[in-house]
Amino acid sequence: MSSLSFYGSGYSVTSAIRHNTSLFLQKDGTNLLIDCNGICGQQLARQHIDLNSIKHIYLTHEHIDHIGALANLIHQMWVRTCLYCEKGNERTDRLNIYANKDTIKCVKAMFDSVYLFDQPGMFPILFHELKGDGGVIQIGDFNIDYFPVSHNDTPCLGLATQIDSKQLVYSADSSPIDNIYSRLKDGDILVHDCNRIDEPLSGGHTTWDQLRDMLPSLPDITLYLVHLPDTPSVQEEAFKAYLKANFGEKIFMGEDGLKVQIT
Ligand SMILES: [Zn+2]
Ligand SMILES: [Zn+2]
Repeated sequence: MSSLSFYGSGYSVTSAIRHNTSLFLQKDGTNLLIDCNGICGQQLARQHIDLNSIKHIYLTHEHIDHIGALANLIHQMWVRTCLYCEKGNERTDRLNIYANKDTIKCVKAMFDSVYLFDQPGMFPILFHELKGDGGVIQIGDFNIDYFPVSHNDTPCLGLATQIDSKQLVYSADSSPIDNIYSRLKDGDILVHDCNRIDEPLSGGHTTWDQLRDMLPSLPDITLYLVHLPDTPSVQEEAFKAYLKANFGEKIFMGEDGLKVQIT
């Protein structure tokens, strides 16, 4: 059974209902966390995911709403699986972190600043540098096709991966760029940045108006909007009703804690 979970669906400022966007994918025996917000540990606990089973983390880019809580999550893993663990049963499995060069530099500096690597008995952490112009990498059971997107001057990597008969494509933080849409075919799932719903935006992200205008040129896909703004609840409900009335079960606002089975 494969699944996509939304551990966060909001933009860089958390709201009452949305934390920073982070996704969690499960396929066969592999768990893959994509970016890390401040409640990933809680979301994993709610889904009864053993922290020992987190061996792969993919980071889209260096911005703090995507990596800022990673040191905390790894510290939680260390406390649970090394420090407060039955002697002789401590985690020794490696944690693999996949990111571009600039992101790895920031993450290493963050880990150094809180002495994460110096914790006694810390499990091994290995960084895998992803090429800025894209490539393919096998992450456990996931074959990941990663590609550069358009996030102002910040190098940022979207991804696409086949899950059963569907391809899941994630835009990461990006303005509209063909690298994202050229990977889609009928029946696929697109998780897309939607940083504004009813107002214009400077570059580096995507607005709902831009997405809506593109829909006729895209294959028949299911679309989940993430990196969503903090919207008053009345407006949020109105937007959800509008999506349902106009797009049926094809376009959804991401919701923190939502888990979608992919078969
Ligand atoms: Zn962001
Ligand atoms: Zn960003």
